[in-house]
Amino acid sequence: MMKDQHFLIDERIIDRIVRYAALDDTETVLEIGAGTGNLTKSLAKHVAKVIAIESDHRLVETLSDLSLSNVKVIHGDALRVEFPKFDKVVSNLPYSISSDITFKLLKHDFTLGILMYQHEFAKRMVATAGMKDYSRLSIVTQYFADVQILEIVPRTALYPQPEVGSAIVRLAPRPPSLEVLDKDFFFDFVKAIFTQRRKQMKNAIINAAHMMNLSDAKKLVDLLPQDLMCKRPEKLSPEELAALSNLVYEVRHEDSI
Ligand code: SAM
Repeated sequence: MMKDQHFLIDERIIDRIVRYAALDDTETVLEIGAGTGNLTKSLAKHVAKVIAIESDHRLVETLSDLSLSNVKVIHGDALRVEFPKFDKVVSNLPYSISSDITFKLLKHDFTLGILMYQHEFAKRMVATAGMKDYSRLSIVTQYFADVQILEIVPRTALYPQPEVGSAIVRLAPRPPSLEVLDKDFFFDFVKAIFTQRRKQMKNAIINAAHMMNLSDAKKLVDLLPQDLMCKRPEKLSPEELAALSNLVYEVRHEDSI
């Protein structure tokens, strides 16, 4: 068995995933890592079309043998394949690509995602400021979407059993709630300072200056609000981080720092 191949064998969980997705027969659903088609078959009963991406050629054959008339099977790596237009994404994801596939999905326009991840990963997606799992992933995910853990899935729901538990996550894209001057800079800023999450913000900015293209970070931090400079990045809310990133962005431009 190849890594990342854990198939859903608990029909009740498959039924609940389909119910959470609130599908209708006009919709196109994307499924990433369709495997043997356990979930695909249920999805196909409720929607106009399922686009099922699978990288393992043997499983692509299994999926094609199901001869489901409204399922289009795409053989390829979901990180490389260009996604066709879709309304919702419903998947028991290959866990090793959780981050990259989530960031890729969030660049697309869709109404709802019902996605199964490793429980640990799901906890990072939903974490808020000050929590142990609060991270770059929390901030970037919540920038684009409302995110919520719907249920924890025991290892026994999958075969072969994974080493860790899983969780079903609801991802509902919406317009960003944060006001950022430059989205790419904001994401670079968050990535940079979270490499230093337990340092004081002042030192975090200085230590990670190269990741934000800051030539004189020491000068810059003196110009920023000193109350925030003493806090740890992991304690700042997304709103505070956005405001700080905007200041860094502006000061950097005005003073060529
Ligand atoms: N959806 C099926 C189920 O729940 O029974 C299978 C889920 S299994 C966790 C993940 C599936 O993704 C596997 O079938 C694996 O071969 C496939 N996979 C792994 N990496 C992939 C990638 N980069 N692109 C597309 N599929 C991938």
